[in-house]
Amino acid sequence: MKHLVMVVEDEEALALLLKYNLEKEGYDVAWESRGNKALGEIEKNKPSVIILDWMLPEISGVEICKLVRSKPDIKNIPVIMLTAKGEEEDKIKGLSAGADDYVTKPFSIPELMARVKTQLRRAPEPVDEGELEFEDIRMDLVGKKVYRGENYIHLGPTEFRLLRMLMETPGKVFSREYLLKNVWGDNIYVESRTVDVHIRRLRKSLNQFGSDYIRTVRATGYALDKNAGGDVDE
Ligand code: CA
Repeated sequence: MKHLVMVVEDEEALALLLKYNLEKEGYDVAWESRGNKALGEIEKNKPSVIILDWMLPEISGVEICKLVRSKPDIKNIPVIMLTAKGEEEDKIKGLSAGADDYVTKPFSIPELMARVKTQLRRAPEPVDEGELEFEDIRMDLVGKKVYRGENYIHLGPTEFRLLRMLMETPGKVFSREYLLKNVWGDNIYVESRTVDVHIRRLRKSLNQFGSDYIRTVRATGYALDKNAGGDVDE
């Protein structure tokens, strides 16, 4: 599940630049330009991290930060404060309002992205809920269990994440590179053949109780397809 980053920034050009770069990093992004609306949006969307501009119309970023910290259901969300002010006194004021980090404008995009990543490391994982279904395969996201018909299928954590990705968008062809990035993560070096190995394991587990639903798209990747039957690993 993707992390949601909430950007509270009234400067449209900067907000769009942040949105573009955050999405490129693989996050969902919500943007709010008005201070008085931001708090409601934060409570509604429960982002994983908030990038909060200091100077906002109506309510300042510092005030919003204090309000976030006063509300039990959102008080643990990390806040990165953006500001044009570089004074040490302002920094202290920002941090004492409850900000977790403080970035002075102008900042470099890679630096801010690194700060976001750092905060996300300590953010709680998005809560999994509900079930995914594809034909007779059922994935219980809360209990982390997979069933085919009535049969429980034991999967390793990597196979579970692979299947989840496929089941979230049935029919979509996922490239090996995409699966590597999203199942294994950015910073882990694994060869693309590794994907094939885990897909083979996943297939073997699933096919104990029915026909093959994983389609191999030659030279590209994999998709969930109920007519994949008979397709085999190259
Ligand atoms: Ca501003």
